[in-house]
Amino acid sequence: MKKIVLITGANRGIGLETATQMKALGYKVILTSRNADEGQRVARDLEVGYYQLDVASAESISALTAYMDAEFGQLDVLINNAGILLDRSDKILDIPVEKLQTMFETNTLAPLMLIRALLPLMQKNNYGRIVNVSSQLGSISNFNDYTPAYRLTKLALNGVTRMLADALKGTNILVNSVHPGWVKTEMGGAGAPLNLEDGAHNVIWAATLPDDGPQGGFFYAGKPMAW
Ligand code: NAP
Repeated sequence: MKKIVLITGANRGIGLETATQMKALGYKVILTSRNADEGQRVARDLEVGYYQLDVASAESISALTAYMDAEFGQLDVLINNAGILLDRSDKILDIPVEKLQTMFETNTLAPLMLIRALLPLMQKNNYGRIVNVSSQLGSISNFNDYTPAYRLTKLALNGVTRMLADALKGTNILVNSVHPGWVKTEMGGAGAPLNLEDGAHNVIWAATLPDDGPQGGFFYAGKPMAW
């Protein structure tokens, strides 16, 4: 039976390219997006499965979990790709608390809640690959005051990865954080050096790790990154 991969925020950017490449590798892809029209359209073009998912909504996560359980009863790979960067002009001393909360909800809490909801579908078969799409901007060793909320949310996402690695010790469910690279997308901008294929390739590396692959790391292009 084909392995099943679920990807969040996959209507465009790195998520969509990751869905395309995972399909080419022979996975059964469940593409998800918060915008149903757009997501359904790209899923139809790609001939992959689709489910509407707003990662910041607890109801939406519950509905998706019930669907995955009833429809497949298993999940092999979860790619927490959806993310937002809303604070290019903010500074740590004046960024509104509401913006911090919104970004934490989507970039940090949503991946954790999705993992908690879907983990039983991986534990059933003692197989899972979880990729938290993080960023080098979340590397605390290089912190400065540019995009303060984005950095903090990705730092905390890396913390989630570390803790889950401990919780999942001894299982064949591997969870890792990945920096996809600075990629030409709506978020990365036209001046980014990497194309979509390279960005998705970095994500897929962690999604397809062998059983003796790393647990609880932070990687770029298959190499460890500074926390
Ligand atoms: P993008 O083109 O802006 O795509 C972001 C995706 O996330 C969109 O599909 C967006 O959906 C989705 N999303 C946002 N909030 C959501 C929600 N509440 N529920 C479901 N989906 C939601 O950005 P990208 O560059 O492909 O980024 C993908 C990931 O890579 C992000 O986690 C980002 O932080 C990370 N990253 C990117 C770069 C880069 O250079 N591009 C570098 C480092 C890390 P809508 O279309 O509905 O907005």
